[in-house]
Amino acid sequence: MNLNWNGAKETMDTTAIIERLREIAGPERVDTDERLLREASVDRFKKYTAVHGIYDGPFPIAIVRAGSTEQVAAVLAFANEHGVNIVPRTGRTGTEGGLETSFERTVVLDGSEMDEIVHVDPVDMQVTVQCGVSLELLEERVRELGLTTGHSPQSKPLAQMGGLVATRSIGQFSTLYGGIEDMVVGLEAVFPDGTVGRIKNVPRRAAGPDIRHVVIGNEGALCFVTEVTVKLFKYQPENNRFHGYLLDDVRTGIEILREIVTNGFRPSVARVYSEQDAAQHFSHFAGGKCVAVFLAEGPAGLVEATSAEIERVVGRQPHERVAPELIREWFDNLNWGPDKIRAEHETMLAERHLGYTTEVAANWSVIGDIYEAVIARITKEYPHFQDITMLGGHSSHSYQTGTNMYFVYDYDIDCEPREEITKYHIPLNAIIVEETLARGGSMVHHHGIGKYRAQWTEEEHGSAYPILRKLKEVYDPNGIMNPGTIFPAGNR
Ligand SMILES: Cc1cc2nc3c(=O)[nH]c(=O)nc-3n(C[C@H](O)[C@H](O)[C@H](O)COP(=O)(O)OP(=O)(O)OC[C@H]3O[C@@H](n4cnc5c(N)ncnc54)[C@H](O)[C@@H]3O)c2cc1C
Repeated sequence: MNLNWNGAKETMDTTAIIERLREIAGPERVDTDERLLREASVDRFKKYTAVHGIYDGPFPIAIVRAGSTEQVAAVLAFANEHGVNIVPRTGRTGTEGGLETSFERTVVLDGSEMDEIVHVDPVDMQVTVQCGVSLELLEERVRELGLTTGHSPQSKPLAQMGGLVATRSIGQFSTLYGGIEDMVVGLEAVFPDGTVGRIKNVPRRAAGPDIRHVVIGNEGALCFVTEVTVKLFKYQPENNRFHGYLLDDVRTGIEILREIVTNGFRPSVARVYSEQDAAQHFSHFAGGKCVAVFLAEGPAGLVEATSAEIERVVGRQPHERVAPELIREWFDNLNWGPDKIRAEHETMLAERHLGYTTEVAANWSVIGDIYEAVIARITKEYPHFQDITMLGGHSSHSYQTGTNMYFVYDYDIDCEPREEITKYHIPLNAIIVEETLARGGSMVHHHGIGKYRAQWTEEEHGSAYPILRKLKEVYDPNGIMNPGTIFPAGNR
């Protein structure tokens, strides 16, 4: 008998595990095709090596495409008993290594075929869906009823509801509707021992701690999300009003965001792009300036008031106006579907060029310092700075107390594909995380910790870390759930 990384008993060999999975889920739901297993071993953190066909493993032993909550429960209970690691997945848009199968004896548990819209309720303003429902399809369906989920991450055409909840995702309209944590009314999740928990749908309750938050953002490291109920809102696009401005610098833009939001106004979109990031997004009109973008939406009276406040606050700073149609056009093409993924693959192969992002958050008083410290350190200390073709960022999600900064870095790859991650992505990501933590910010705003920021989870949480760690000990005592994700491997 072997022991896996955390000491759980490995009582079955690979062939026996696959046989048992076929019995549980049905043979047609268990994939062991070598190509599928290789592709399932990474996510978009390793997109450059993947596009070159380089997969270094470990590879999963099988992919189970679950068809029901009962099958998820049976697979998890079996895996828990026999020391089989589980990596949950749905839409496969993860960017932080959360889908990486970093350990031997891993089964990928795929919820994308659990794709039923269970119940749309326009009276109680909520919709219940299974984990594999595509957000884009859901949004299309509820818009037919004059409703919206209010959730619109850039990955909307690809991401699915289980993953969106599991990563604590956030969308482009977040300043009005909030992140997914503000949208989830109730949900169903399965824990490693096979326990199915359904958190009921109520508008609020004071019945102890909010247990939704054990599940939201767990990244598959505690449980598997099988069903979600999210809020619905009135959809009133006819009232939408876009605003765009050129500004002199990022700090001015951040101050504009701060003033609008803390004065009590909620444009659904409120963004400021650095000069470099603006040059990439708005090349036809940015002209070397920063760009601020707003969308006021909702009932006509609110749109009127929000638009007037945006104009008033921006009007107190030096600015040039951008035609609203240009902002609308840009916004309509922002999302990433299969076409943009394909185009990115072609560019990566043809041009040895790549872009990545690292998103952090901090209070208003320090976010500008973090931005400047990161840019200064990368410019002065990063040894391969000559390969960087673009370095900048934008603030895209604002709150009463602060905002996020979405750092963007593009580079020419002057090495073998396999070395790209260690030469460029990991060190650049580390600088951003370190400078943010050093100034009291959060190292991750919305992509999740995955496996590549897990080394900083303890520092992120400080004296509160035991509260988080105990969740792992209690809900996943055998450490089978997405090991290495959120919690560094070997440190449950
Ligand atoms: C082009 C692009 C744009 C993006 N834009 C945004 C954005 O605007 N906002 C944003 O927040 N994110 C964004 N992301 C990141 C990504 O889309 C989100 O993290 C999304 O929530 C992942 O959903 P998914 O269904 O693709 O999950 P997956 O990629 O399948 O999984 C992501 C993580 O969640 C876990 N997981 C998946 N399903 C389950 C489940 N049913 N139960 C438990 N754990 C599960 C996985 O193990 C993994 O750790 C973007 C990604 C890309 C590629």
